[in-house]
Amino acid sequence: MKFNNLNRYRVGGTDSNMQLAIKPPATPSGRIYRMSPNEDAHPQHFVMGNPSPDFEITAEARKRMKLEPRSKQTVCPYSGVVAPDESFTHPDDRQAALDMVKQAAVEDMRAAVSDMLRGVASRSKSITYRPAPRRAKPRLTFHRADLLRDLVCDHCSRDYGVYAIGLFCPDCGAPNLRLHFEREHALVNAQVELAEAQDEGLEELSYRLLGNAHEDVLTAFEATLKTVYLFGIANRPEGAPAVKPVANDFQNLERAEKRFKDLDFNPFDGLGEDDLATLRLNIQKRHIIGHNLGVVDAKFAEHANEARIGETVHLVGDDIKRFAAICQAVIDRLDEWLCGAPSPTLGSTSEETAKSPKPKEPKKKTLDIRFDTDRATLQPDGRKAVEQITALLKAQPGLNLSIEGHTDDTGTPARNAALSMERAEAVQAILVQSGIAENRLKVAGYGAARPVSKGAAEADRAANRRVELVRY
Ligand SMILES: [Zn+2]
Repeated sequence: MKFNNLNRYRVGGTDSNMQLAIKPPATPSGRIYRMSPNEDAHPQHFVMGNPSPDFEITAEARKRMKLEPRSKQTVCPYSGVVAPDESFTHPDDRQAALDMVKQAAVEDMRAAVSDMLRGVASRSKSITYRPAPRRAKPRLTFHRADLLRDLVCDHCSRDYGVYAIGLFCPDCGAPNLRLHFEREHALVNAQVELAEAQDEGLEELSYRLLGNAHEDVLTAFEATLKTVYLFGIANRPEGAPAVKPVANDFQNLERAEKRFKDLDFNPFDGLGEDDLATLRLNIQKRHIIGHNLGVVDAKFAEHANEARIGETVHLVGDDIKRFAAICQAVIDRLDEWLCGAPSPTLGSTSEETAKSPKPKEPKKKTLDIRFDTDRATLQPDGRKAVEQITALLKAQPGLNLSIEGHTDDTGTPARNAALSMERAEAVQAILVQSGIAENRLKVAGYGAARPVSKGAAEADRAANRRVELVRY
């Protein structure tokens, strides 16, 4: 008997004892759907993509990791539980894989039996053979992507997505809470800017946008405090006393602080009196905006010197940004507490990073230097851009740049790798000729692996033939 169908999944073993493997399905963006084997983890689901090929892991980052990156184990981003990669396969996918194997086996049997019956039928006048219709092939499934938060671990460069709040990178296990909130922070700053950019006459819209930005900071802040607290509680030594349900304790600074005493930790201990007062005032403001249509009541007037009862609460973009920055400082403290060491990216948040609503690689600045297909020579407008970068590097002696070359997908991978490197080196050569020290510049070539535009039109390809500059 032949096993033509089953053989497609074969990875080893013998003819009578085959070893089969089916790859888990990928999402449209090429990630693999994962589910934590820890039933207490919420919400259990996440997706995992790929790491950057040439990412350098620092010693500082390594200290915060639970696992050597790219090991055969995965860390549950919600609960920190470590288990072999296979145990993170979603049960639906496991079932679909079993169905696929079963289907292949049935098809092989059917083929064998059909051959036999056809043989019998052809020798007999009274028997005709008609095979039954085939069943549809089962398919693997993947989960919805619209609620996913996309992250790229700043410790090991693994790309992944979590629902709600994930505490750890699923690849290396380093806490990524800081990274998570930075994204929130950036979105809030973007909302504030949007509010401030509204024309006169649209004050109402502007106020509404600021109200939403304010609410978003607070919601994310409270949810993060609560998530970390519950993680701490779940990981206390055995026999620790039970705690009361959290309810809305994290909507109040004093109660939140009291809660964290269960874990002998105070996430607010790095804040000065001023910052604490600002935090308190902003938590109060939420009540006014959310439940009182922005009109100051007696309780709020007590806390805020400038507010008078009956007036509309003041919302200023810069205040919201400051509030978000204070929340970020508390989150950074939680992130440090999760593994006992501060994040290696702490202190690197520039104004620019905070403003950028883009989650991935916020330190990246794309320099618009375009190239012709299969060429590493700069076009005239590219030279102009490089001159501007030279001026910037001269003005900021502390700025170091990684020059990263990219190609479109028309050549072979080997040619593209070489060409992308030549492009990066062409830019580097001009910078060095202009008097920039070589040790401030790194070069790398990524071939066609990181397109900015996925289409096959010439405009997409032209956009991909580029050089990017990244601060390092
Ligand atoms: Zn990682």
